[in-house]
Amino acid sequence: MELRIFGAAQEVTGSCHMIRANGASVLLDCGLVQGRRLEAYRRNQSFPFDPESITAVVQSHAHLDHAGKLPMLVREGFRGAIHATHGTGELCQLLLTDCAHVLMRDAEYLNRKRIKQKVRARRKAKQNGLTLPQGLPKEEVLPLYLHEDVGETMALFSTHGYGEWFEVGPGMVFRFREAGHTFGSAWLEAVIQENGKSWRLAYSGDYGRAGLPILRDPEPFGETDILICESTYGNTVHPEFQGMVHDLAEAVQRLVQRGHGRLLIPSFAVGRTQNVLYCLGRVFDEALAPQVPVVVDSPLATAATKLITQYPEYFDQETLELLANGNGGPFFPGLRFTESVEESKALNQEEGPLVIVSASGMMENGRILHHLARYVSRRDAEILVVGFQADGTLGRRLLEGAATVNILGDSYKVNARITPMMGFSSHADRRDLLQVLNPLAKKTGTMILVHGEDEQRKPLAKALRDLGFPRVEEPVEKQAFRFS
Ligand SMILES: [Zn+2]
Repeated sequence: MELRIFGAAQEVTGSCHMIRANGASVLLDCGLVQGRRLEAYRRNQSFPFDPESITAVVQSHAHLDHAGKLPMLVREGFRGAIHATHGTGELCQLLLTDCAHVLMRDAEYLNRKRIKQKVRARRKAKQNGLTLPQGLPKEEVLPLYLHEDVGETMALFSTHGYGEWFEVGPGMVFRFREAGHTFGSAWLEAVIQENGKSWRLAYSGDYGRAGLPILRDPEPFGETDILICESTYGNTVHPEFQGMVHDLAEAVQRLVQRGHGRLLIPSFAVGRTQNVLYCLGRVFDEALAPQVPVVVDSPLATAATKLITQYPEYFDQETLELLANGNGGPFFPGLRFTESVEESKALNQEEGPLVIVSASGMMENGRILHHLARYVSRRDAEILVVGFQADGTLGRRLLEGAATVNILGDSYKVNARITPMMGFSSHADRRDLLQVLNPLAKKTGTMILVHGEDEQRKPLAKALRDLGFPRVEEPVEKQAFRFS
């Protein structure tokens, strides 16, 4: 049996691992590398294996850094089954469709940039009587996949309930266990048999945090021969989630005291938006601040919120009790959702006070940009930063205290208050990981740490060795492990 780490070796995006046994090749996740447009585009161009040779894919969850390359796999010839929980299947439909649009927009943006570059070079050469410089990009940028590729991909999904064993190839059975990270998320438990031998394997996917609202807490791992575990926050401790309701209440109170303006909450459409809404509901329900109008202004966030409310079987006890008490759902009465662009624009006519939750979470695209352009220079606005902000994003610049920022091609002075609230993270932190892994030191044959940059992964690896884990691996990309 061979295990190969193809992506997210020393980084947090592009998750993709392969198990080979009995002549079959099974992928665990098929994620996009994310980051700066051109670099990500180049790195996502191809697969380090033949997609036609893959027997099946088992998906941990629907986030694009774990599932975003599935339509490309299908376009390149993969015809096997894509196994996922029911929730992940539904969410993939939403997220992959949205991703196809974003990839097209990115390709258009890069092509426009290339055309300008060529026209300028030609003009300069002509003015100076020179020949055209070498190295100008010749080919146009094509999107990685189109909307129709997503349709073909969705037809290959085979969905399962949590805890049900299913076969993915000869001698390979899997089941999904609750990961508590996002809607439908799972860690994978597998038994692989080959040549009369048997291995118990677990793959964490993205492992969540206990105590997050709406969804159930993650189930602990059991005894395994091989545990592939994420290490995103292997050296970071998040603020307590419970403190977020209090911090949100204070932000709402500041808005009420101003009497007008905006509280803008740029937020990932799936997971983060719903957790923020849940906490706002607690703020109003427990009268920690006066109720103010709240609008979700993101078509994807609206669709995801509707989807989540259709799956009460995924809810935790607290949310089920809210439902049983006639609350009507995990959110709060009076919450508004915009549908059309016109409705979104009409929000500009409302002087406030108004809370707007909108995507994208890193403030790189989506409707939040229009609200930021309008309010970032105003002193009656506050912007909450509730998620990870990658290097080079508008969110990171605001978080780092930039005095001026560029939004949609114009420069703006930053006068709005910027408030970080990092306790919303849906990834286990160092404390959570050590707590769940601690009892397994003598019950884990090989621990393979993935999905973490070295400054997070190395300290976690050391802590695990100190706890007595006999073999802790920190693989590089394409590294293979053989078990016999
Ligand atoms: Zn994730």
